[in-house]
Amino acid sequence: MSRVVSSLARFVPVVLLVLPLGLTAQARPPIYSPGRLTADQQVALGIYKELVEINTSVTTGNITTGAVAMAKRFREAGIPEADIFVGGPRPEKHNVVARIRGKGGPNAARPILLLAHLDVVEALKADWSPDLDPFKFIEREGYYYGRGTADDKAMASIFVANVFRMKREGWVPDRDIIIALTADEESGPANGVDWLLKNHRNLVDAAFVINEGGGGTTRDGKPLFNAVQATEKITTNLTLRATNKGGHSSVPRDDNAITQLSDALGKVGRYAFPVQLNEVTREFFSRTAELETPAVGRAMKAIVANPRDAAAMKVLGADPRYSSMLRTSCVATMLSGGHATNALPQLAEANINCRIYPTETAEQVRDSLARVIGDTNVKVEIKTQRPASPSSALLPEVMDPVRRITTELWGPIPVIPTMSTGATDSRFFRTLGIPAFGVSGLFSDPTVDARAHGRDERMRVQSFFEGQEFLYRLTKALATAKTAS
Ligand SMILES: [Zn+2]
Repeated sequence: MSRVVSSLARFVPVVLLVLPLGLTAQARPPIYSPGRLTADQQVALGIYKELVEINTSVTTGNITTGAVAMAKRFREAGIPEADIFVGGPRPEKHNVVARIRGKGGPNAARPILLLAHLDVVEALKADWSPDLDPFKFIEREGYYYGRGTADDKAMASIFVANVFRMKREGWVPDRDIIIALTADEESGPANGVDWLLKNHRNLVDAAFVINEGGGGTTRDGKPLFNAVQATEKITTNLTLRATNKGGHSSVPRDDNAITQLSDALGKVGRYAFPVQLNEVTREFFSRTAELETPAVGRAMKAIVANPRDAAAMKVLGADPRYSSMLRTSCVATMLSGGHATNALPQLAEANINCRIYPTETAEQVRDSLARVIGDTNVKVEIKTQRPASPSSALLPEVMDPVRRITTELWGPIPVIPTMSTGATDSRFFRTLGIPAFGVSGLFSDPTVDARAHGRDERMRVQSFFEGQEFLYRLTKALATAKTAS
């Protein structure tokens, strides 16, 4: 396209080329005007506020309260009772699933699933700024504050609010749209997605899933790129265990469980797993190279060309986020040992938390660490392990409308596939072969807004309403299928 423009430019007066661009910019009115919310934005804001103020944290909260409140909203929006399900394995851990019926018929494509989790990470008022309260929804200087404003109650309330708009417009999708708002994504024993897939698969079975894990990035207040998460690292916990026959501490010997474990931990801490790339991260680094500083951009291109380029890895390793996207990582997170101040320790143990590249297995990582430690008296065992979860292929059916709507709303910024270094519920679907994509159109600046799970969690007001519009247009595009899939 740029070649066409440059060859045209030789013949066409520059003004003609500039004018249509200017018109395009004018044709893009702001989605959000401060102080002048549209009726649809007011609906979304009301749901968002209600949801943030319901404490759904894993231990002190009640997720069912949130599920019941959203079920009521679905009913008010016009979804029949028969298409709303509320349930879960425990009274306080319910999920809500609602279905917007499509036109149906023999050629109807399989449903799409819009997924968000209702639970939030614990938050104590004392830990937040004195003028904020994690379970009070507060707007201040262009931001909404409260636990869950970013993770994940913006997406949850936008999905619910957009049902009101679709129903009011009388719009009927070509395929069913399922919305699932679930429990215990963050932690806790009753993961809603896992439970629904095992007990009510028909309720959430879909051609593909739209979930958290993606989102837009701004720099200096301007949209930089929109990310689509298509894969994620896999969490595994390993135990390092050193044992010893023990004895009186007044007669120490060379072998000592705590000392041996310490040596092992030192080796694990200094060890770097080999650099890896997959379809998604290769694309991520190739595209992000264009947006980064020249030195980092050069290193990104170099590592894509040659994963063994040590000089490039040194540059990228300075940023822990890039480093984690390039290799499996294992880090000591808990430590215990000994049983008395005056006894030689009989047992010393450490927990090692590993985030494994999707192409690697827990067994391979365990064996690597055992080799690095090289001490048969320190055992390396797999403590908890999650099933492998493949990358989702970047389906044109999803990526094309994401790119188109991104350009409609924010101009010609790139859409970049990413791999999460943390975990989302998308892994349950990917394990079953159902593609899942983290995409929200919710933009934030990682240098000031990365507060999910932490203090003073917030969402830019403009980002919330732009995300609402993005997900509205995306849902409509995805549910207006030309052919069955
Ligand atoms: Zn989340």
